[in-house]
Amino acid sequence: MDINQLKKMCLDEIDKNKETIINIGKYIYNNPELSYREFKATDIAIKTLKDLGLKVEENIAVTGCKASINEDKQGPKVAILGELDALSCPEHKDAKEGGAIHCCGHNAQMAGMLGCAIGLVKSGVFKYLDGKIDFMAVPAEEGIELEYRKYLQDNKMITYVGGKQELIHKGYFDDVDMAMMFHLGSIKENKKCIIKGKSNGFIEKGITFIGKSAHSGGAPHLGINAATMANLAINNINALRDTFKDEDTVRVHYIINHGGDAVNVVPNKVTMEAMVRANNAKAMIDANKKFNRALQAAALAIGGKVIIEDFIGYLSLETDDKMNSLFKSNLINFLNIKEEEIIDLNKGGGSTDMGDLSQIMPCIHPYMMGATGDFHTKDYTMVDEEMGYINSAKAMALTLIDLLYDNAKNGKDVLNNFKPKYTIKQYLKFLEDNNIMHTYNYMEN
Ligand SMILES: [Zn+2]
Ligand SMILES: [Zn+2]
Repeated sequence: MDINQLKKMCLDEIDKNKETIINIGKYIYNNPELSYREFKATDIAIKTLKDLGLKVEENIAVTGCKASINEDKQGPKVAILGELDALSCPEHKDAKEGGAIHCCGHNAQMAGMLGCAIGLVKSGVFKYLDGKIDFMAVPAEEGIELEYRKYLQDNKMITYVGGKQELIHKGYFDDVDMAMMFHLGSIKENKKCIIKGKSNGFIEKGITFIGKSAHSGGAPHLGINAATMANLAINNINALRDTFKDEDTVRVHYIINHGGDAVNVVPNKVTMEAMVRANNAKAMIDANKKFNRALQAAALAIGGKVIIEDFIGYLSLETDDKMNSLFKSNLINFLNIKEEEIIDLNKGGGSTDMGDLSQIMPCIHPYMMGATGDFHTKDYTMVDEEMGYINSAKAMALTLIDLLYDNAKNGKDVLNNFKPKYTIKQYLKFLEDNNIMHTYNYMEN
């Protein structure tokens, strides 16, 4: 069958199922769940994939699921991903209990991924493709709540903090050749899509200052003040900012999770969470060394102790040019989006664990603009359901057809021209080498 006929069949099928797809997105929006606790979102993904007659592997990394089609085909395997987790932003008008809210638009990703599955499977188009396809609902993209992830690690429920890291570690990408995912971007200057987004990698840090408690009024000289250490550390970190090179887009940020127990007691324990980001691994490791020196110096000055736990967060995103150009031409030729409404390249300071995959295999990660307001803020609101839920599903399905049609000519071409930065084995070693705990103890006894 002609490729354009296949594409039309798939588009028609997605249109026929529009209501179902939009309802998936809305349901997940109304039931936001934080990392590694995305039970309801996983359930609706399982149900949708099972309704298509597919066999579903459940709870692949605490939560999440996966269904494969065309396992008997010879060609390459493409994974279509949708992220499950919400964020915490209590000031958002739609925030649910505990502040959970989808202000990164992952609900649209899930609708898009499942919509893509509906389009390809229900139309029967997948049978005409010469490659395998995995549909994956993946947990825990947002690098938040380090304490909770450490709890999961301590209880051997996960090995790595990020959902895709964990799935790479568990072997779920061993047989995958390339991957596809999008984020729901914010409309700026009437643009409808960013094709290539560059992002930062980051190291996630858990920091504990240990001192000694004493009566703040009666005998403060007997205490070792952990809050003073944190205060000095923050000043040290801020003093480092102009040592970072602009082209590395280094970002350092922190919060104090626990600042003391009572105001009239010298705090003996203060905990912080921090991130060090950069657009390349070298700059990230370098900035992190400086950051750790800033923490160490604070403990030294006060004669206390600091424990630093470093976790490699995510790596920078490098998407594949050939796959990007296929995606772009589908937007223009089938989805009524004009060339001038597309941004080819955007450099951002955020991070995504799609970056990790992109260092291992060819990937795309476009931004479909269907929201307003900045990511991760109270203003982020989905305003264009057609774009976020439907066009995203269509664009991914069409690109997948391009990759796997005609003996997967395009897909093989992508693979032949791709040079990975890391093999999976090298990548896992990099994580292992840089997930380190440092302790600096300057307490006299
Ligand atoms: Zn996100
Ligand atoms: Zn996000």
